[in-house]
Amino acid sequence: MIKMNTHYAELKDSYLFYNISQKIKAYLDKNPGKPLYRMGIGDVSLPLCDTVIKALHEAVEDQSKKETFHGYMPECGAPFLREIIAKHYASRGVMLDVDEVFVSSGASDELGDILDLFDRSSTALVIEPAYPAYVDANVMAGRKILHLASGEENGFLPRPDEDTKADLIYICSPNNPTGAVFSRSQLQEWVDFANENGSVILFDAAYEAFIEDENLPHSIFELEGAKTCAIEICSLSKTAGFTGTRLGYTVIPKALNRDGMNLNSMWVRNRTTKTNGVSYILQKGGAAVFTPEGQKQIRQNIQVYKNNAKVLMEALDSLGIWYCGGKNAPYIWLKCPNGMGSWEFFDYLLNEIQVVGTPGEGFGACGKGYFRFSTFGSPEDTKEAARRLCELLK
Ligand code: PLP
Repeated sequence: MIKMNTHYAELKDSYLFYNISQKIKAYLDKNPGKPLYRMGIGDVSLPLCDTVIKALHEAVEDQSKKETFHGYMPECGAPFLREIIAKHYASRGVMLDVDEVFVSSGASDELGDILDLFDRSSTALVIEPAYPAYVDANVMAGRKILHLASGEENGFLPRPDEDTKADLIYICSPNNPTGAVFSRSQLQEWVDFANENGSVILFDAAYEAFIEDENLPHSIFELEGAKTCAIEICSLSKTAGFTGTRLGYTVIPKALNRDGMNLNSMWVRNRTTKTNGVSYILQKGGAAVFTPEGQKQIRQNIQVYKNNAKVLMEALDSLGIWYCGGKNAPYIWLKCPNGMGSWEFFDYLLNEIQVVGTPGEGFGACGKGYFRFSTFGSPEDTKEAARRLCELLK
């Protein structure tokens, strides 16, 4: 009889979003028509910017004519997109060869697929609280997971110490859910650790576009030695509103070797076997993001979310509630007031002021007693949620 990957049975059910939707449903059944202020969503609410829409339309037109039609695209990405992404890195002082940039269908796909490169016996260290896909993708692969808890004492930015041991290391900065961002020197400690121990860092830079402090690194490759120990996974989802359009990119330096293997060559082999490239139309839309006009327009959208963050942060400041994030990330991570638990605080906000957030314990055990607000909602809803929060908790 066929043998199945029974590691799937070890996956914990994702209670978080299911529980949230069940609680909302029960509330609305009891209170039909009551407006809700949704500060829990991780999806964007603004449409694609004009420059991207124009490029997508033009690319559709290209596909209608024999002379400009494109069939299969190169598996690792269209040269025009790989080049413009490499130039974007160069503008920040990170010099990459074009074939170190791989175009993807988004960060989620890559975070799972990239595990093909590593033996199942390798261990994966996940800094928690964390984006749940890191743990689940490794459980599916039957890999041993080391959970590294973080907390207020280290600003949710833990560093390696003499007890740290890991083959794969997940680092998400700016972080989902905490909004915390590693400084250069903090990140350098992880890079040095990985080089000394032969580990590989999977650096999730999905939220780099939200960094506004000039001294914080957008890319791990801004740090000395990162090209011999890191893979960077990035996405246009939050940067440019591509959550439903789907496009991302992954950087694998050619200098990254482990166990006698070159990871860049392995990934070329992987992509050319397992994909047939990303759609020409989407890659044209993606390239438009990196033009000067595209950059200007995506920044305008990001600013809307940043204003939402400001509104929520001001409310929390006035209430004296501890939080981190918000300034360089689209998430605000707060301590539930009056010693409330995450779910208790969720129920309290839903029932009293119809504000919906995300309970922190959904991101790992050390998220207990914390709560996440997203800033991707509408400015009107965010202002009303902040007003209600102040009135309830003052
Ligand atoms: N990484 C993190 C930390 C995320 O929060 C998300 C989405 O919310 C992703 C990756 C997935 O991004 P994508 O839409 O590119 O799959």
